[in-house]
Amino acid sequence: MRVAIAVPLPELFDYRPPSDQDTATAARTLMPGLRVLVPFGHGQRIGLIVALANTSDHPVAKLKAVLTVLDTQALLQAQDIDFILWSARYYRAAPGEALFGALPTRLRRGKALATARAASGWRLTVAGTALNAEQLSRAPRQLHCWQCLREHPAGLSQRQLSAQLGPCTSALRALATKGLVEACQLPSQRFPPHSSAIPVAPATPDMEARPELNAEQAAAVAAVRASHGFAGFLLDGVTGSGKTEVYLRLIDTALDQGRQILVLVPEIGLTPQLEQRLRLRIPAPMVVLHSALGESEREAGWHAAASGTARVLLGTRSAIFTPLPELGLVIVDEEHDLSFKQQDGFRYSARDLAVRRAQIGQCPVVLGSATPALESLRNAELGRYQRLVLSQRAGSARDPRILITDIRGQYLDTGIGHRLHQGIEQALDAGQQVLLFLNRRGFSPVLTCHDCGWISECIRCDARLTIHRNRGELRCHHCGLIRPLPTRCPYCQGPDLRPLGQGTERVEDSLRQRYPGIPLARIDRDSTSRKGELERLLAGALNGEYRILLGTQMLAKGHHLPGITLVGILDLDHGLYGADFRATERMAQLLLQVAGRAGRAEQPGTVIVQTRHPQHPMLRALLEHGYGAFARAALDERRAAQMPPFSYQALVRADSPREDAALIFLQQVAHITRPLLSSGQELWGPAPAAMEQRAGRYRAQLLLQAPKRTALHQLLDQLIPQLRHLPRARDLRFSLDIDPQETL
Ligand code: ADP
Ligand code: ZN
Ligand code: ZN
Repeated sequence: MRVAIAVPLPELFDYRPPSDQDTATAARTLMPGLRVLVPFGHGQRIGLIVALANTSDHPVAKLKAVLTVLDTQALLQAQDIDFILWSARYYRAAPGEALFGALPTRLRRGKALATARAASGWRLTVAGTALNAEQLSRAPRQLHCWQCLREHPAGLSQRQLSAQLGPCTSALRALATKGLVEACQLPSQRFPPHSSAIPVAPATPDMEARPELNAEQAAAVAAVRASHGFAGFLLDGVTGSGKTEVYLRLIDTALDQGRQILVLVPEIGLTPQLEQRLRLRIPAPMVVLHSALGESEREAGWHAAASGTARVLLGTRSAIFTPLPELGLVIVDEEHDLSFKQQDGFRYSARDLAVRRAQIGQCPVVLGSATPALESLRNAELGRYQRLVLSQRAGSARDPRILITDIRGQYLDTGIGHRLHQGIEQALDAGQQVLLFLNRRGFSPVLTCHDCGWISECIRCDARLTIHRNRGELRCHHCGLIRPLPTRCPYCQGPDLRPLGQGTERVEDSLRQRYPGIPLARIDRDSTSRKGELERLLAGALNGEYRILLGTQMLAKGHHLPGITLVGILDLDHGLYGADFRATERMAQLLLQVAGRAGRAEQPGTVIVQTRHPQHPMLRALLEHGYGAFARAALDERRAAQMPPFSYQALVRADSPREDAALIFLQQVAHITRPLLSSGQELWGPAPAAMEQRAGRYRAQLLLQAPKRTALHQLLDQLIPQLRHLPRARDLRFSLDIDPQETL
């Protein structure tokens, strides 16, 4: 049989059945998905059976036998195994690591599958919700349990129930036998939707209401419903156009058909509102899987999904590997988001894998975004996805007005120019809220000496140290290096040290000076590092306590903040001339995402964008004709340059503490690659990475490109076996990134 073992090797391993089993017993009890203990090297390892092959490339007599079979029940079904092995092959990851990575930690370590752990709480079933109180009048304990659970639709743990009602185990069991309550995984403790301490979001009536769909929404829902088997859809809808409403209707349909639903989102912690909205609207058990969960919660969620108890799984990228035996619909929200790409180790794209998973599961996949990735738009052009357009904001909200303001020649000590200040004052006078966006945390991105020109640089990276004045530190945002903030120049001992440029801390200072007494919240990684702080700040933003919100990328994600009428983007220019060929695409997505925060309720919103390049053609296309026109222009450029999505790339990265080792290694890679190239295939580099030194390691890379995906993979098939035999320094690390999203 073929066994996967969690080691960084590309192969699977062959073993014989346990020696105490005769062939007949083995055929009956062994199956893919069981864990086994096997001899490996000088020790023993836990493996997972992936196939029951009778043949082997090795002489069968020489094969070692499995020591013990650890499970009686398969942890992964054949389809799950196929999908994960396919993913590992595509991204050139080690199959055993990928398979074991898909299991909860305890199972990875060989612990027994604990079924009971799945039930961490109780909630009413659909029948329970529909029950009339009189029907329980003769069982007062059951009645109390039922009433209590009715007030907590997301469920309560046994402990919470007994705290309110006293002993109630037998009452619950009785209710469960009648089909009125069921076990469920409780919502994460971090974002308790019904906790009174942290009002993550007041459950506004429109969260629970089921609005009449507008014509475009109805057409989108109908198109997906009409599909059979696998079908890809790109739901291209401006912010607030009601994409979530479309998801909810599709989820309803899939639930009615008895299927499970996988919903992938970029980051759950940043969008607790979506989780809450789904919980309020989905009439079936839902589990949530993301990185902030504790091990036991994660395992309970995994088990609920794998056993079919959970009907809806909401998760971040790694949830793509969770078994869902009755999968009938896959949704990827904000599909353009970079967080769907794992950036180290097993470098998969959960968005792309979602499509593959829907293919294997023969079900529809819906990729939704207000700013679809150029790859996805191209796939729609090619007819691989059906494009569903929502062009209008749903309900009464209007599109925001976007104004460009040229800040050339203005001395912006505070980061905010005249035009934006005017806007802020007007909004504050009118009693409205303002959101200011600056994607740079800390006080100032660099400290300089006015006497000798010294600048604060990291000793381990080719990067500057950011001033964090509140903490009295200089910090490197790339390797984490921390230095005390100097009072004199380390080079010339001069006293005149000056911050150059603005980070959120510095803008906060100047805003507090300029608008004294106006409540302000700064939301970035520094201000929200304490647990619960982000939720507190967001709640204050939502209930109008804060009048000015200042933040980084964290604020740009899908928060629904209806009180905001003005959005100010302090500095867009970084994105306009970024070195990565995707820089303008990312700039456009971020700009529209931030702009989407404005005017979601009745008042129309305004967005003021500060730039030193008001004539930038891509910016003009975006603002004058919208994202669609921008995307068409950007796709034309990519086509002309034969860049993705008109070609396919793989990036070989290498790094080493020694200065030339990475480059030398990649030169050897280039040397063996060149003869393998056929027409149209290209090789660029090797070249030092944009930030050559990072955390004390020198980094270099080599880019392979081919006009067709299959051609690229054929090239890799030939190349990769040779890489293992290349001479290289012992401290050299290298990795392969298939379909890289960042090529610097
Ligand atoms: P998106 O996911 O595209 O940003 P949402 O689904 O969150 O949009 O919808 C934005 C707002 O509009 C929500 O408050 C939602 O309840 C409301 N909404 C959605 N569809 C409709 C509709 N057909 N009629 C009225 N309101 C709607
Ligand atoms: Zn100096
Ligand atoms: Zn550093």
